Amino acid sequence: MSRVITSHTNPLVKAVKALHMRKAREESGRFLAEGLKIVTEAVELGHAPKILIYGREAADHPLLDQAREITYDSGGQVIEVNREILEKIARRDNPQAVLAVFEQSFTPLAMVEPHTAKVWVALQAVRDPGNLGTIIRTADAAGCGGVILVGDCCDPYSVEAVRATMGSIFAVPIIKATIPEFIAWRERWPGSVVGTLLTAKTDHRTAKYEAPTLILMGNEQAGLPEELAALCDVNVKIPMRGRADSLNLSVATGIMIYAAGE
Ligand code: SAM
Repeated sequence: MSRVITSHTNPLVKAVKALHMRKAREESGRFLAEGLKIVTEAVELGHAPKILIYGREAADHPLLDQAREITYDSGGQVIEVNREILEKIARRDNPQAVLAVFEQSFTPLAMVEPHTAKVWVALQAVRDPGNLGTIIRTADAAGCGGVILVGDCCDPYSVEAVRATMGSIFAVPIIKATIPEFIAWRERWPGSVVGTLLTAKTDHRTAKYEAPTLILMGNEQAGLPEELAALCDVNVKIPMRGRADSLNLSVATGIMIYAAGE
């Protein structure tokens, strides 16, 4: 049986709302995902919600039945709430009628098996959660092995990043590494490590990509630091013909992922 909660001062509602803050996500190891489609995708990939929250209007949806059952079976909580609480939790008007709290999952760097995919992506100091979510979604679409977050990156489990992944957060391994860890680990990479630099001489279409290819992307403002560009086998540039001086990070990453995967 679902519990019905009608007060937004309820401690469980407060704990879910707090997942908008990085500190609460780090302390709990949990995150919030929105929408029946994403929750269903998670369930199908074997991720059971710790807390499943839904509004009355979604109560009879057949896909919700499946999510409810898996949540119960795995010892999670199922909560029915009113629209006002959904809005408070989602922090938006017109919230999704289904929200769920899941456990975060990071793959340790040492567990990465390069040969399981043709292309992997490493992002240095990515700061925009929309960019990060879009890159995770693109990496999923293109069949990349995983996304490695190098240095001080934004949180892949923020509500904004998860929203932009459109469910791919559950499908793509996410790995975290400090810059020194990444530098040491890169030494054992069996294929090409390809950096992306606006000042590179090599056109990304003429570079040789030896699989498994690790593509290294730089920060939105500062680009890839010299320290990391220097340890790539090759640095490439995507040609730009107009007045723009660079591409958006997620667009550039998409172009590189598909170029290396050809
Ligand atoms: N001002 C920054 C710079 O000088 O590099 C611009 C950074 S750009 C917005 C963010 C990242 O996207 C870059 O570090 C690089 O990885 C990638 N990028 C953007 N445009 C690119 C291009 N034309 N060729 C190669 N990489 C590009």
